[in-house]
Amino acid sequence: MKRTSYISELREMLALERSRGRKIALIPTMGYLHQGHLALVERAKQTGAFVVLSIFINPLQFGPNEDYANYPRDVERDAHLVEAAGVDALFHPTSEEMYPSPMVTFVEVGQLDTVLCGAKRPGHFRGVVTVVCKLFHIVQPDFAFFGQKDYQQFLIIQRMVRDLNLPIEVCPVPIVREHDGLALSSRNIFLTSEQRQQALILSQSLNEAERLWRAGERSARVLERRLREQITRESQGVIDYAEVRNAQDLSEVTNIESPVVIALAVRFGSTRLIDNKVIGVEARV
Ligand code: AMP
Repeated sequence: MKRTSYISELREMLALERSRGRKIALIPTMGYLHQGHLALVERAKQTGAFVVLSIFINPLQFGPNEDYANYPRDVERDAHLVEAAGVDALFHPTSEEMYPSPMVTFVEVGQLDTVLCGAKRPGHFRGVVTVVCKLFHIVQPDFAFFGQKDYQQFLIIQRMVRDLNLPIEVCPVPIVREHDGLALSSRNIFLTSEQRQQALILSQSLNEAERLWRAGERSARVLERRLREQITRESQGVIDYAEVRNAQDLSEVTNIESPVVIALAVRFGSTRLIDNKVIGVEARV
């Protein structure tokens, strides 16, 4: 596996691969990798492309009181994992390499970034979209892989690519969960064993909401109320949001007639976890 922290070196490497006729696949991550990230690698490898995985904890997407300083980091461990998984190149730039001078240019995707995590984390998606746009220009991938764990992020990146005519296929990858249902996340290591147990309420309440929908419940408000009640009754998690929204454009839904995403953000102590489930006919993005 090739490995670099420098944009110029990465570009040279990729120009060579392209001249050999290889397509390029990009997997942007913030590192501290787990099986969820490795599922993205597996899907990327299936394209036959030269697979680049980036690790960059992007300061631009963290709010002033968020966990940028504490975000878990272990690039050496990550490098072993991705090499074993068959990644062709690991790109792990420093902040200085990505932001040599303070940024004055930003990319924003309107509407989609005003709800859910966008409403709760002002500026977050502007930071995400700007860094992903930079990575897209640096790598110029044919394919880019994103997990549906960050459902809103996936929709936003897909929309940016469409609006800006970027010649990139944005590929969603289903959520990878622990055996007991907890969605894998780099932040799970911050949970105490008690919080880890309580965090099961995310997937359990999503499953319960799906069960109600399958039993004929079509009111988005009723499902939201049931989610809130179950989370508050059965855990000490503090709900950031628990919402049912249109799966394509995240618009408000009253009666569930087309695919919806049930999206949750819940805090356990200082650890904020997100999870979601898409339900409805052809429950896919
Ligand atoms: P992160 O390192 O948390 O920024 O995530 C990098 C990529 O991995 C994003 O596209 C995430 O959606 C994806 N990802 C993270 N956790 C999971 C998971 N449990 N299942 C599927 N994809 C995931």
